[in-house]
Amino acid sequence: MAEVTASRGDESVQPASAGERVVTLTGVGASLGMGIGPAVLVGGEVPEPPDTPFTGDRQAELARCEDALAAVAADLEDRGRRAGGDAQAVLEAQALMARDPDLAQEVIRHVNEGRTAARAVHEAFGTYRALLALAGDYMAARVADLDDIRDRVVARLLGVAAPGMPSLTTRSVLVARDLAPADTALLDPLLVAGFVTEEGGPTSHTAIIARAMNVPAVVACAGATSAIRAGVRLLVDGTAGLIQLEPDEATVAAAQATMTRRAATMSRSSGPGATADGHRVPLLANVGSAADTAAALEAGAEGVGLFRTEFVFLDRTTAPSEDEQVGLYQAVLVGFSGRKVVARVLDAGADKPLAFLGIAAEPNPALGVRGLRALLTAPDVLAAQLRALSAAAAQTGALLEVMAPMVADAADARAFVEAGRAQGLEGPLGVMVEVPSAALRARSILEHADFLSLGTNDLTQYTFAADRQVGSLAAYQNPWHPALLDLVAAAASAGQAAGKPCGVCGEAASTPALACVLVGLGVTSLSMSAGALPMVRTALAAHTLEQCRQAAAAARAATSAAEARAAARASLPALADLGA
Ligand code: PEP
Ligand code: MG
Repeated sequence: MAEVTASRGDESVQPASAGERVVTLTGVGASLGMGIGPAVLVGGEVPEPPDTPFTGDRQAELARCEDALAAVAADLEDRGRRAGGDAQAVLEAQALMARDPDLAQEVIRHVNEGRTAARAVHEAFGTYRALLALAGDYMAARVADLDDIRDRVVARLLGVAAPGMPSLTTRSVLVARDLAPADTALLDPLLVAGFVTEEGGPTSHTAIIARAMNVPAVVACAGATSAIRAGVRLLVDGTAGLIQLEPDEATVAAAQATMTRRAATMSRSSGPGATADGHRVPLLANVGSAADTAAALEAGAEGVGLFRTEFVFLDRTTAPSEDEQVGLYQAVLVGFSGRKVVARVLDAGADKPLAFLGIAAEPNPALGVRGLRALLTAPDVLAAQLRALSAAAAQTGALLEVMAPMVADAADARAFVEAGRAQGLEGPLGVMVEVPSAALRARSILEHADFLSLGTNDLTQYTFAADRQVGSLAAYQNPWHPALLDLVAAAASAGQAAGKPCGVCGEAASTPALACVLVGLGVTSLSMSAGALPMVRTALAAHTLEQCRQAAAAARAATSAAEARAAARASLPALADLGA
């Protein structure tokens, strides 16, 4: 993950007083690297345009309406062509509505009566909406389509984001309040130069997906959607947590040089993970799809340390059959014959709801029935998944290990291991350490489990009682904090005492300096997004185990995350030269 640069209370936008142009925005860097491109706003709700009288040039206002309607129609047709099939028919029907001459006449009438372009469009669509709603069930269903077109046209006229995920035609920076995993998972990484979100901390799932796509991201950037207009050129610096609006050519050239240097360091990195003095630390990948697997293999991952199986099912409303699961898992496992793959059973709930588990609405989903707790209420789903994973491993030759998310104590660990053995799984069965109670009592958990995997994203969220999705709490979600490092140390030493592995698969493993500290604390493997592997491999190879231990001790002796980071970096002298 990117270094967390914001400190409590300073992660907001630079204030722009009236009339002043905002040039730099500050957030939390959540995916390393830089990207440049025009801003594309990912919309939420489009506001109703106010009915203030229009006294300007009516001809120009009419032309704006005409242009906006035509542009929306063309955009819908273009999306239809690219989607094909049924979607094309629906989108073309929508485009026809936007080109309807009667609708255009109605818009003209409203502008001539003294309304703004946006208000005229709103009113004109309102008339049609009322007619459709009265015209029986089939036509009433078209109301939603009509509202969608209206919102798209009004958004264009007001210069705000159109609803939903836009279709990208050029490499762009996506700017949103927040992004759902289901939105980002379908994006083409080649067309995304960066992400900027107002919400979400460095361990939010937007941040994780940005890292998996190897796209720079700045999250928790308050006010971004109001300060950034569509089309403005942005420079996203995911390392520093900064966004520059309309950067000058010298800044762009300097950023491009940095991107080239970084790419060169990354391309030189290869081989298995080890410190400078040869202490082996397997470097594994976090994956959620077959596409991630390809990237992991290309980045030289030694195996998979976290296969987030729930990502395969996020858009499902019914439970996938066992056979279907075998196929889906095989697609991910296939490149890892003879290598370790740690699959995590479904981690549903909170920000990753899976409709088919039927979890009731809860006041605090992150503290509710999620992860293993949800699976223990649906033992058939768990059993089928365990069997399917086992079958996929047998067919691909991957060395399968399976672990459970959100394990609180030894009783949870035992329930999971028993469920696994009951389905005939013979390989290692482990648990994630994501809840402070599990870190504190790792020793008793290891009486049942074969290994531990520290999920530092949730462990940070639960240690600081700071929701990982809330941007304004991003400064609390800092894995450099000595309190978090103490919990990592507790779990790692329990692993050492039991002679069992204790890895890290949370995003902390992907920050090069923090990865060295984790190794110094005694963790035995590191798993991260493919994009982070080269830098972490290089940072580790540049320091001895003793230096990593000194960095870990210095960080634990600090009293804040910022101090811990500074102290650790002082013990890891090669980082600066590497640009890590
Ligand atoms: C974690 O919590 O650190 C983890 C790896 O799991 P996820 O991010 O998927 O919740
Ligand atoms: Mg987790």
